[in-house]
Amino acid sequence: MYETLLQKAKEASGHAYAPYSKFQVGAALLAKSGKIYMGANVENSSFGVTVCAERMAFLTAIYAGERDFKAIAVSSPQKQELVPCGICLQTMQEFCTGDFVIAGETKKYLLKELLPRGFQL
Ligand SMILES: [Zn+2]
Repeated sequence: MYETLLQKAKEASGHAYAPYSKFQVGAALLAKSGKIYMGANVENSSFGVTVCAERMAFLTAIYAGERDFKAIAVSSPQKQELVPCGICLQTMQEFCTGDFVIAGETKKYLLKELLPRGFQL
């Protein structure tokens, strides 16, 4: 399962728009429905507008009606091991339990390990 997700994340990184950082990231999100949603980072000259690959995958899945997720794989040709940024972890927390898996090239983490005390309203 993780090998497939990681391969999809690698493919997704090829769709990144990263002219400023040259740091391409792809993500593949597995919903409990079995569907996989992909995303890639899209940068902007106004840096705060930039969207990460992980959030693109989540927002696409949420738009499609998904609400339950198993795992996400993240990949970049520029860096072997990635962990999502804090904004993406907070997005994951909105829809996932602490046992949600975040898979990189060589390591896997649980959401509760990377965001043990995320914001809750
Ligand atoms: Zn992010």
